[in-house]
Amino acid sequence: MSHPFSKYIQALGKGRRGSRDLSMEESRAAMQMILKRQVGAEQLGAFLMLMRIKEETPAELAGLVGAARAYAGLPSDFPIVDLDWACYAAKRRQLPWLVLSTLLLAQQGIKVLLHGSHVPGRVSVEEALANLGIAACDDYRGATTQLALTNIAYIPLQVLNPELQKILELKSTLGLRSPMHSVVRMLNPARAAASMIGIFHPGYDLAHQAAAALLGDKNLAVFKGEGGEAERNPDSECVARMVVDGLSYDESWPAMFEQRHLKDEELDISRLGRVWRGELDDEYAQATVIGTTAIALRAMGKANDIKQAEQLAGNWWQKRDRNAVKAQTFNARPIKGTVALVGAGPGDPELLTLRALRLIQRADVVVYDNLVAPDIVAMSPDTSEKIFVGKQRAKHTLPQEAINDLLVRLALEGKKVVRLKGGDPFIFGRGGEEIETLAQHRISFEVVPGITAASGVSAYAGIPLTHRDHAQSCVFVTGHLKDGSMNLDWDALARPHQTVVVYMGLLGVETLCAKLVDHGMDATTPAALIQQGTTENQRVLSGTLSTLPEIVQREKPQAPTLIIVGGVVSLRDKLNWFSTNSVVKEFP
Ligand code: SAH
Repeated sequence: MSHPFSKYIQALGKGRRGSRDLSMEESRAAMQMILKRQVGAEQLGAFLMLMRIKEETPAELAGLVGAARAYAGLPSDFPIVDLDWACYAAKRRQLPWLVLSTLLLAQQGIKVLLHGSHVPGRVSVEEALANLGIAACDDYRGATTQLALTNIAYIPLQVLNPELQKILELKSTLGLRSPMHSVVRMLNPARAAASMIGIFHPGYDLAHQAAAALLGDKNLAVFKGEGGEAERNPDSECVARMVVDGLSYDESWPAMFEQRHLKDEELDISRLGRVWRGELDDEYAQATVIGTTAIALRAMGKANDIKQAEQLAGNWWQKRDRNAVKAQTFNARPIKGTVALVGAGPGDPELLTLRALRLIQRADVVVYDNLVAPDIVAMSPDTSEKIFVGKQRAKHTLPQEAINDLLVRLALEGKKVVRLKGGDPFIFGRGGEEIETLAQHRISFEVVPGITAASGVSAYAGIPLTHRDHAQSCVFVTGHLKDGSMNLDWDALARPHQTVVVYMGLLGVETLCAKLVDHGMDATTPAALIQQGTTENQRVLSGTLSTLPEIVQREKPQAPTLIIVGGVVSLRDKLNWFSTNSVVKEFP
């Protein structure tokens, strides 16, 4: 029996009279098999080259792209993107000035997603963006953050679909480009409303335009751009094949100069930033940026004609925020690293989230403090660096600012950093402060919630935080003593039918209980202090508001401890399920 893929090779290659084009359905099915790796290396090579020789038809291209989108799409909760920009050619005659066009659009609130790959010996868009401080994203979450912060993000094809990237790299083996070079240009992974596509070889522009119609893509511009990127060359006339709101037509953009400019021999990438900031006057660069922006505006349907598009782009250029591209980002290394602020839960490693576990297992560096169980830190790869920045009362190992700076430094070194925090990073965890510093440095980050001590510890102590008969609300407060006192809204805390959970309350337990009684809580209200909840050292000291301070003084529990006050504490008698090796002591 022959291989199920061979029928496609046969159709394409069966001699002068026997061969035929594939239908859109066939090429979609063929592409699916390729991306699912059901196709042998020889078969793939034959398929690509046969299609290359006859040149792919719009239906074939549309079929290939349709399947590729299903395998290189972004998650459905990915933010909405206005403009997709495919960057697969890279430059060798001129710098990729198109990056300044994308910045200009982003500053006007247009969300731009770029994707592409490197070409050896050329200046890629990825490199140019990184030099302006916009680093390529390692994953979708990073891209989500970048888009939210700056309206612009670049995702390498390697991240979108490594299989497609490998196929592109076959160019050096086969010696020829393949239809896949057209496919990636049309990928539009975020399904943006409009896309910008550059081609190098004349003829392919028409195939793209026709394939777009077959795929139902409503807005795009495809043109022979400088070096094959979607960048208008201001030195020559440019015929752009447009699709605007579903209508296809061609538009001829006249040359902007009478004489051609010389090849840029140096390709000094720092000129991008200098032109943006206005430190360098370069007529070629400026015309390219405005001209390219104008084509994008037309593709998006934001200008009625060429003149209007160029005027609007020119205005935006005059008004651009020159400070957005900081001088010091130049020649600095691109920011590749990311920081994940990960909640490690209350102690028991089983209470980690799956996301937390995955990130820990992929971390280059784990930065943790003393509330994080050693077993959790040990889940990181052996090769990963482990940095303890623990905080113990009065014995701060590293001040908060130093931790913030450390995270920035590690990310700038290009590392995948996991910042592990006990419980949930946003509950009494100063997580907000740490990522504020990261955002200032344009480092991409994500936050992974964890089980906070209140919910983890109460569950393992058999104390439901709310209960129909006892508590309809639950408040979390910090019992941290400042100058020997606690600054809390006592009247609000002493309300009936409410559970009060106190973090960091061990030293202040006496004040806490006294104040609650002073403000109207019954002295017989059940109260418990739980030592090292969810771990094998868990100990529950339970009593009432009047007896708890004394019990604590006698038993000398070890931090961390959590205090729970309210009628729900009495339910523990029935609901207690978690037992540790050590004897759990009960108090009347
Ligand atoms: N971000 C953490 C809280 C940090 S503040 C979270 O969401 O849980 C530190 C306080 O948390 C400790 O003083 C203690 O009150 C509480 N805590 C954390 N882990 C605990 C545990 N296993 N048992 C008891 N209390 C705990």
